[in-house]
Amino acid sequence: MKTLRIEVEIPEDLRRDVEQGVYYCSGSIVASRVDRERGSSIEIDVLDEADPASLEQTVRSWIEQTIRSSLRYEATTVREWGGHDGFVATTEEVLGSPEIHGLGEGLVAYGPKLTRALRAIRGLCESLSEGVGADPFTLPAVATLEHMHRCDYLRQFPQLLSFVTHFREDFGAIDAYSLQCRNAQVADECVPSTDGTRPVKRVLRPAICYHVYACFDGGTVPGKRPFIACAHGDCFRYESRNTTSLDRLFDFRMYEIVAMGSEAGVRDLRERMIEEVSGLLERLGLPGRVKSSNDPFFVSGSVMMSTFQRAQDLKYELEVPFPNREGHLAVASFNLHQDFFASRFAIRTDDGAVAHTGCTAFGLDRILAAMLVHHGADPDGWPASSREMLRLPD
Ligand code: 5GP
Ligand code: ZN
Repeated sequence: MKTLRIEVEIPEDLRRDVEQGVYYCSGSIVASRVDRERGSSIEIDVLDEADPASLEQTVRSWIEQTIRSSLRYEATTVREWGGHDGFVATTEEVLGSPEIHGLGEGLVAYGPKLTRALRAIRGLCESLSEGVGADPFTLPAVATLEHMHRCDYLRQFPQLLSFVTHFREDFGAIDAYSLQCRNAQVADECVPSTDGTRPVKRVLRPAICYHVYACFDGGTVPGKRPFIACAHGDCFRYESRNTTSLDRLFDFRMYEIVAMGSEAGVRDLRERMIEEVSGLLERLGLPGRVKSSNDPFFVSGSVMMSTFQRAQDLKYELEVPFPNREGHLAVASFNLHQDFFASRFAIRTDDGAVAHTGCTAFGLDRILAAMLVHHGADPDGWPASSREMLRLPD
């Protein structure tokens, strides 16, 4: 392993995304550190076999292109509240809990207590949904390429995608694979050859709301009050080397409240959600703040999208203090999509205009992780008021 230090000015608002995004530049990068104070350099630890000169060139040109295609921006905080001070448990203590089973990179299983707590957190989201009259939907965890192309996700966030395939209907190929696995000594020898598999046509969903738009393809929603849908389930994002703890998983659980209607109706609901969700977390005993934000960039087009999101105040995130490098964790986001998805799925309001859409997305595992570090690794020890709110039994 060797360390490469690249002198380059990185504006403050891009430092975190550069530090996390650089992993997608090359598989030989195993750690990255941007000098967060001054932003005058990035240090990367790389595998010995890497060619430092060409790697430096790749990283440098990626960073330069990223800076060139984004406008400078200062995040605004629209809400902030205090609460419980400091952390009760370290992330190591949380990860050491007998209730958490690491099942591979970015994959976790929870035991009964944490599963009950997670379910109870979802229950709070359900109550919020009921409060705004949301209708529940059941959606698949897989999405077709055709669908995600229509959402423009493939172009904007290819680095996060996970592709799904299967064997061709071909006895020879299937049987050969079975034999390959029977003879395999280690799991690596069970990787299927692409000869026998179909070309990729599906992906694992990276968020919940995309399927909702597809359910309304060519449909109409009320103009007066938005139609509100809610759904939840596992979402998948390939986070490369950033997947090191509970706060960033490959397979994580999301709950979404999705609004479709007039621009004003969708915006009003977002304001209401920001207020209600902030209140909810405060009552759970979690301090936090709501700040303007943007989706993570990597490819050139997505940097422009991020800039647009920030300039237009399209994305806000609710952050809770957290013992990670950033010092906080985004546990929910409040998003406006303007008429982007509705125009792609021909969704109109009943007065004939192209609808607007927006969503509130909760990272259920992240809310759980925040509770664990703020109130203790064992939910039995959480404050009575939080347990009561979650309706966890005494
Ligand atoms: P967004 O669509 O705004 O990126 O994500 C919605 C919410 O999902 C985030 O606010 C966050 O709480 C959660 N989330 C996003 N990425 C991850 C991840 O990698 N791991 C976990 N545990 N939650 C995530
Ligand atoms: Zn969404």
